[in-house]
Amino acid sequence: MACGYESLIYIPHHIADLYSTYAFVSEPVHEGKIWHGNSLIWETSTPYMYFRVTDDNRILGGGKDDPFYNPEKRDARVKMKAKALLQSFNKKFPHIPIRIDFSWAGTFAATADGLPYIGSLPGKPNTFFTLGFGGNGITFSVIGAQMIRDAILEKKNDNAALFSFSR
Ligand SMILES: Cc1cc2nc3c(=O)[nH]c(=O)nc-3n(C[C@H](O)[C@H](O)[C@H](O)COP(=O)(O)OP(=O)(O)OC[C@H]3O[C@@H](n4cnc5c(N)ncnc54)[C@H](O)[C@@H]3O)c2cc1C
Repeated sequence: MACGYESLIYIPHHIADLYSTYAFVSEPVHEGKIWHGNSLIWETSTPYMYFRVTDDNRILGGGKDDPFYNPEKRDARVKMKAKALLQSFNKKFPHIPIRIDFSWAGTFAATADGLPYIGSLPGKPNTFFTLGFGGNGITFSVIGAQMIRDAILEKKNDNAALFSFSR
């Protein structure tokens, strides 16, 4: 079962909180390096923000999350949140003028320790869960696939305890 936060209905205890997150991408800006190494920038305040440069030299920014799950309310806030992200970007990089091209929002689930849940649950035989909750969920999905493969092949996997539902 790898249905993201939709899978929560099958989990008998509370394992994750749902957030609304917002993002924008700018029109392409000038060629070449925009900032040092075009590195990923992550501001670890609350709410957090991140900025990165795409292959076609657009600025992609996101964050300013809301602690609720409500797609209608979330989507109604996209323009306002994109503007707030743009203002924060302008404050940090007043010498890089950008214009927003697209903006969007999404829901994501976060766990208390930031780790995903991968494995099986008592009372649910022959069912394996790969729930990549958290900001690194895409990265964890590869580990999840390897763990479920090993579980089906009845092979030991050293990561099993780390991501188990009983941790
Ligand atoms: C804006 C945003 C930016 C992010 N940035 C990053 C990042 O930079 N790096 C990173 O590692 N992570 C990032 N994440 C988090 C990452 O996207 C998630 O943690 C990860 O996608 C979760 O993986 P998942 O497989 O558990 O669920 P999902 O990727 O949500 O996949 C669930 C899938 O199941 C499908 N589904 C739902 N219900 C059913 C059903 N009943 N039957 C069949 N299919 C169903 C859905 O359509 C979906 O395709 C970001 C998330 C958001 C919203």
